[in-house]
Amino acid sequence: MTTLLVSHNDCLYHDTTPAHPESPDRLRAVLRALEDEQFQYLARDDAPLATDEQILRAHPAGHIQWIGASVDRAAQEDHVFLDADTVVSPGSFLAARRAAGAVCHAVGSVALGEASNAFCAVRPPGHHAEQTKPMGFCLFNNIVVGALEAREKYGLERVAVVDFDVHHGNGTQAMFERDPKLFFASTHQSPLYPGTGAANERGVGNILNVPLAPGGDGAALEAALRDAVVPALEAFEPDLIMISAGFDGHKGDPLANLNYETEDFGIATELLCEAAQRLCQGRVVSTLEGGYNLGDLAASAAAHVAALMRY
Ligand SMILES: [Zn+2]
Repeated sequence: MTTLLVSHNDCLYHDTTPAHPESPDRLRAVLRALEDEQFQYLARDDAPLATDEQILRAHPAGHIQWIGASVDRAAQEDHVFLDADTVVSPGSFLAARRAAGAVCHAVGSVALGEASNAFCAVRPPGHHAEQTKPMGFCLFNNIVVGALEAREKYGLERVAVVDFDVHHGNGTQAMFERDPKLFFASTHQSPLYPGTGAANERGVGNILNVPLAPGGDGAALEAALRDAVVPALEAFEPDLIMISAGFDGHKGDPLANLNYETEDFGIATELLCEAAQRLCQGRVVSTLEGGYNLGDLAASAAAHVAALMRY
């Protein structure tokens, strides 16, 4: 059994303006790190385009049309801003469909037992995108599209998403919070954008937020996972564990103030993979969210994938 890497060059052509932190160089840095010899046994697939049918499970048709029309306008204007920091270029529609399609493809490979687990190296990220609102650099909520693919197409009825990005995954929470067969756990810095993710946001008992104070380190992350998230996963009994893998909790990240070290992402990944082995035959699908210091992002993603490959 193998770990599967899913990506696509189209994800490089979502151009966010020159000074934007969510840059194509992020993905280039991650893919370059995964060329190292220790990753020679990764299986590698190109991401398909997500279909309308797949995206429509998470977003209404009007949302897809809005993104598409904005991208069409960008053909004339180069860039169209959807909010203060979420921007599209002529390549963004294909990139966003590849990102959501990657997660659907990874879910299928893991559900069918073709891979033991998978990592999607894609952009734009997804976890801030709400049902009808692109935001926070995100257009479609890739991990929600993937979670609903797992349920509708592969019969994995109970899906858990664990989000260790430094920002709260408000979009994922909003789309999960009324469905008791979906579970969302997030560790994130608080206070910080987008401002949601308080511990008392519990959904229908299926949401677990563990806000961390600025300055929190890898020990805080590990404690949150070991003492709160993993026991909650055990109570939920998922058929699949998905990870919103944001690496912006790294101490070198310019957008936030947590102090994780590179190897903390490996430890976090191992805790989740061990839970998946006990609970759901090891099925783990991870997708890239944030991470804005190129060197730390690349090293942290490599630590994450190296940990996936040990399971
Ligand atoms: Zn983030």
